[in-house]
Order: sequence, then structure tokens, then C-alpha cells
Amino acid sequence: MTDAAVGALVLFSGGQDSTTCLALALDQYARVETIGFDYGQRHRVELGQRATIRESLRQKFPTWRGRLGEDHLFRIEALAQISTTAMTHDVEIVVDSRNLPNTFVPGRNLVFLTLAAALAYRRGFKHIVGGMCETDFSGYPDCRDDTVKAMQLAVNLGMDTRFVLETPLMWLDKAATWRLAETLGGTTLVDLIVESTHSCYLGERAIRHDWGHGCGSCPACRLRAEGFRKYIASSGTRPCLTPTGA
Ligand code: ZN
Repeated sequence: MTDAAVGALVLFSGGQDSTTCLALALDQYARVETIGFDYGQRHRVELGQRATIRESLRQKFPTWRGRLGEDHLFRIEALAQISTTAMTHDVEIVVDSRNLPNTFVPGRNLVFLTLAAALAYRRGFKHIVGGMCETDFSGYPDCRDDTVKAMQLAVNLGMDTRFVLETPLMWLDKAATWRLAETLGGTTLVDLIVESTHSCYLGERAIRHDWGHGCGSCPACRLRAEGFRKYIASSGTRPCLTPTGA
């Protein structure tokens, strides 16, 4: 179903989840733009993958080519200045007494959603799509459904608008997210996500696994690998992808 009257702004980091969200938005909306943030993250390599992914989507999916519009990248140095987390500083990733990993950047998604809404206001978008998920997430409180709903209320009150903050992955686990990608774009999209998206917190891209590039041991890699294994195990007919060693 395509809603030609409205478009969507997608929070696009270059990771698996946001790339799946981008594909879903391209399937649903006639006009789609992307927004990303450079906040001094250690895995800034993901930002470099954004252009690669956008170009691959254009090349491999002719229907989506005409729908994918501008990309917007904003620098938010304040997040790294304020926080001393493992996401922005070279420290070991550990879990605190509340079971919250120190990769948590306080306020990050609140800032992202506020800036996305500000851009959507200027660009005339009603729908803002994000890959937040609380099914098998890392425990980040700003990924919770209630947080996003509260942000929708806050930005709509603060800007006198009727934005809809969509989080299509909120109740999916990682295996279901891989399956959603296959539903949207077949194995072509799954292969693109494996090869080009980036999840690893440590920014590792030299090591290639069947589920993609990464260190294989950080929380993001473990989540992605486990989800991929479950997806392959449940898909039945789909052969395992062969690492290219790229
Ligand atoms: Zn990793």
C-alpha cells in the first residue's frame, strides 16, 4: 500500500534495524528522506555505510529508486561532550547494577527524535520512522514504547503538529527483523543488510561473519548473530550465506 499523499522521514544510522525501517518506508510511502547523527560514536564507521546502503537500495530496487530522496546528517558533539559512555569513549563495555550497559548514551533518542521532528516540520513530513525496539534490546530506556509515545506527544504539543512516530520493529525480535527484510526485498535485501549495514559497537569491519561484519563479541554483534541464526534456522529453504571475506 502506497500513500502518495504523505511521506516519511526515517532515522537512519546505517545499522540493520534502521535499514529495515528504511526499506519498509520505501515500500509504504512515495517520498522518503533519511536523517542521521554524528555524535562522536566509536562505531562511526556506520555513518560511512549510510551512503553505500542508500546507493545499493537505489540500484537493486528500481521501485524504491524514485522514492528515496535527500539524506540529512547532523553533528551533535554535545552528546559526546556530556557523556563518558562506552559508546563514545574507548572504555570496556560493562553492565551496571541496573542491568544497563555502559553503551547507553543518556538522552540520545530523545535528542534524535526532537531533531527529526524539527526537520520533518521543515520538510513537510507527517510520519517519522525509527528502529527503536524493546523486544530484545539492550535495556535502553529511551527505546521503550512508552518513551517514544511520550516523545510523540511532546513534539506535537511543542510544535503544534500531528506527527506520527512509527516504530515498526518495537515488538519484533532480531530474527523477525531479518524475516521482515526478506518479506520486503527478498534475499537481495537480506544480502544487502548482511554485507553493508553496521551494528558492531567497536566499529569492526575487517572481520566478516555469515551475519555481517563485526567483532563478534560485543552486545550488538551477539544480538545480531543470534537473530540471524534463529532466522536461518526458521526459514527452512534459505541457504546459509557464504562469507565473502570482504
Ligand atoms: Zn562487535
